[in-house]
Parts: sequence; structure tokens; C-alpha cells
Amino acid sequence: MTLLRDLYATIVIFISNFTARWGTWVNVLLLTALAALILVMLVRAMLAGHTFRRPAPVAPPTPDERLTEHAAQSLSSAIRFATVTGDQAAMDGLVEYLKERYADAFAKMNVLALPEGSLLLRWRAADRKAAQAPVMFCGHLDVVPPGEGWTGEPFSGAREDGLIRGRGAVDCKGPVIAMLEAVSSLMEEGYAPRRDLYFAFGHDEETGGTGGAAVLAELLQKRGVYFDMILDEGGTIRKSHLGRRSYPAALIGVAEKAVCVYKLTARVPAAQLGEPPRHTAVGALSEAVCRIEAALPRLRLLDPVKQALRASMPAMGFWRRLVVANLPLTKPLLGLCFRGHAPTMALLRTTLSATQMSGSGSEVQLPTVAEATVTGCLLQGDTAQSVLRHIRDLVADLPVEVELGSVQSDPSHISSDKSPYYEALCNAVHERFATLPCIPTILTGSTDARYYEPLSGTVIRFTPILTSDQAYNAVHGPDEYVRETSLGAAVEIYRSFMKKL
Ligand SMILES: [Zn+2]
Repeated sequence: MTLLRDLYATIVIFISNFTARWGTWVNVLLLTALAALILVMLVRAMLAGHTFRRPAPVAPPTPDERLTEHAAQSLSSAIRFATVTGDQAAMDGLVEYLKERYADAFAKMNVLALPEGSLLLRWRAADRKAAQAPVMFCGHLDVVPPGEGWTGEPFSGAREDGLIRGRGAVDCKGPVIAMLEAVSSLMEEGYAPRRDLYFAFGHDEETGGTGGAAVLAELLQKRGVYFDMILDEGGTIRKSHLGRRSYPAALIGVAEKAVCVYKLTARVPAAQLGEPPRHTAVGALSEAVCRIEAALPRLRLLDPVKQALRASMPAMGFWRRLVVANLPLTKPLLGLCFRGHAPTMALLRTTLSATQMSGSGSEVQLPTVAEATVTGCLLQGDTAQSVLRHIRDLVADLPVEVELGSVQSDPSHISSDKSPYYEALCNAVHERFATLPCIPTILTGSTDARYYEPLSGTVIRFTPILTSDQAYNAVHGPDEYVRETSLGAAVEIYRSFMKKL
């Protein structure tokens, strides 16, 4: 109450001073303008819930049964090869399996296989002379380790209750199988593409892609191949997204953040355990980490994010809608408004997370050196170097050195959501999920696509698999799965997109 009383008193004093200085009429005019502005903002927020179409909940897809069954069998078998990055025997097994399973399709394409397992396939255009510039589809064959907490066997590929379970079901064997099913079924029908379609499947995406995608990209660049469009894994078709209420949307990635590692090293003079300095090396390092967490790089509202927020307004509560409906006027309030919503905050700023820390090797010995790792996901507008400077400035008065780690990159460029390819992809999605809005987004992690950026002006990151929150959160976690009908629908979306190219 004291606060309200103080606020009221401040306003009264302000108005009376203002009146004394400028006269009553100016005052009335200004207050009226302010009231009108607030009214307009409120009306815009109220209308926003109606102006943007609220999609109906997505009905379970009903894809072609034969296509779906074939794809489900293929994926179930592919999951059984435990291709955790670096397991050469498993990777060799999977590549052999794919060559066998899609023998006809492989026979009709040019196939380049790296010894470690990466594949580059080319499906030639029917009329080579009339063909336009090629396009490329990407994916990867490796998976992250299963980790703890699974209720079943992570590499069983078990099919039960309409689900296919196992590591890689969504990331990324599901999409790879869906692409190959699309290709082989189109070939069976006698379809031939109007331009060359390339397919690049890496063997080490989950550990950085330096031996797979990076090598393939260099090879393509040397051959002078330039693509009109590249489609890699990315955003999915979400049953609900952004906000409190169920709001389905196809999240189509037009850019990706950069993952960048920073190494922090604290050094202090040696001292006895019983006579410690005010800050040990671990203490100084902790202080550095706390400062980094408390002072992240400033918020930035990028164009695709603004569009994504606007399109998502029907899913938001009133206050969030009030802020988003009245951008850019309300931009300074964005951070406050989405403070508790990590997925949205990740689209508004570079994030920096402490991931590792080590000190003395003994419980009874003071460390002279302590090390920590801070991993950043950099938003467009920041660079590996600009964030390095930011961190160094924050810890300048501490005995802490900051260097870039082995994983470093700059954020991708932003592809247009107005390109004919973006539109064709949306249309392909709409053929299967009629009422779904396509919303551009920025991926908060990184994919193989970043290596292919020099090869195309349009790089889209989208996985056309319908995922619930549960399915989405299981990617890289325990109990990863895909619904068989969602896999079948993905095959149909790839088929229809390929036919539009
Ligand atoms: Zn992936």
C-alpha cells in the first residue's frame, strides 16, 4: 500500500508541476493522448486473439497404409543399428542395410559413400538440359548415446501401440527413412524429378559434423555445385507450441543459432588449506559464472521471431498479447513478459550456460588452477568474438582468463520465409494438415546445415514429423519415439514437396 500511495503522490506532484509550467490545456491534451494510446493498445491486444486464425487441434493423420507400413518396418530396422557417433561397425551395418532396403533407388542414383559412413546421393533430373539448379535434402545417420531412464531397450526399434520406439526415431533416422521412402515410392511410380535432387546424410552430426557434412560441403564446393535450396532437419510440426494453450503449428526453421564454447581458467597463487586466500580458484571461477548468468547479452528482436510471436498471439495470455500486439512500442517489455518462458527467451537473446567446472583433484588441497566451460547458443547479431569480448569485460577484475574452446561458429544467415521453396513446403504441409499455420523460427541448436550455407542462399530447417510435447522432449532424452502415422505423413509431405520442385 505504501508503494501505491507513493506512486499516487508522485503522479499528483508531477501533474501539478506540469500544469504550473505548461498550463492546463496542454496537460489535458497530453493526458487524453496517453489515454487514447492505452485504449488503442488494449483494443489491438483484444483483437489479436481473433485476427490471427486459431487453428483447430490437429487430427491424427491418416496417411496411405502401404507407404506407412513400409516406412515403419524400415525405421524399426534402422534403429536397431546402434549408430552412436563413432561406432564404425554399427554405422557400416546401417549403410549396408539402407543400400539393400532401397536397392532399386540406390541403383538409379549416383552414390558417393565416405568410408566413415556419410552418404551423398544424386537423383538426376529427367531432362538434364532443361533442368534448373539442383536442391538438396540433408539428414544424419548417427545418434546421441541413449543415456539413462529408458523404460525399454533404446535400440530395439520396437513397434507397439502404433509407435516406433528407440534412439533416433525422430533425430534423425525417422526423417532420413521418410526421405528415402519418398524417393523410392516416387521412382516406383515412374516419377522423375525436374531438377537434380541431392541427398546428404552425415555420419557425425551429433559431434559436430567435421568428418561428414564439412567434408561433403567442401567436395560439393570444389565441384562448383550450387543449390537453389537446401532442406535440413529442424523445427517439427508441433501439436502445441509457445504459450499456455494447445496451439498446433509447423515450425519452419529459417536460421540456426551458433553453438560456441568458452573456456574459463582461474589461476591463484598456491596456499595452505588452513590459510586460504579470500577467493580460491574455484571461488573466483564461481563468481565469474554468476556474473555471466546475471548479465547475458542484450535482447534482440529479429524479424522471423517478431513474425513468430505475432502469429502465436492466439495462444498467449492477455498480457503477453498486449505486449506482442503493440510491438515495437512495447519492445522494452518483451524480456519481462517472457521471463519465465525459456523457449521464447532463447529466440530473443544469446544464452550462456555453465556446463562444466573442475578444481583441485583432492578434497584437502586448494586448487591453484580451476577450469570451467560456458557454452553459448549465439543469436544472429552476436559473433563468437563479440561474445568473447562480452565475457572478458564481465570478469576483467577477476583472476580468470577466457578463451574460445574447440567448438566455435557464428550464427547462420537468415533465409527468407517469402521464398517459393518456403511456400511450397508450407503447401506440402497443408495438404496433410489443412488448418496448420506455418511459423518461421530460429533453431536454438545447430545442425549440419551450417556447413552447407556457402552452397545456397536458401537453407530451410524443418522435419515434417508431427510431435507432441512428450515426443519432442524425448529427442536426445529417454524413450524417444515416433508415431507410425506421423512417419507416414512425413513420407507424404516429402513426396509432395519433391514433386513441387
Ligand atoms: Zn539431428
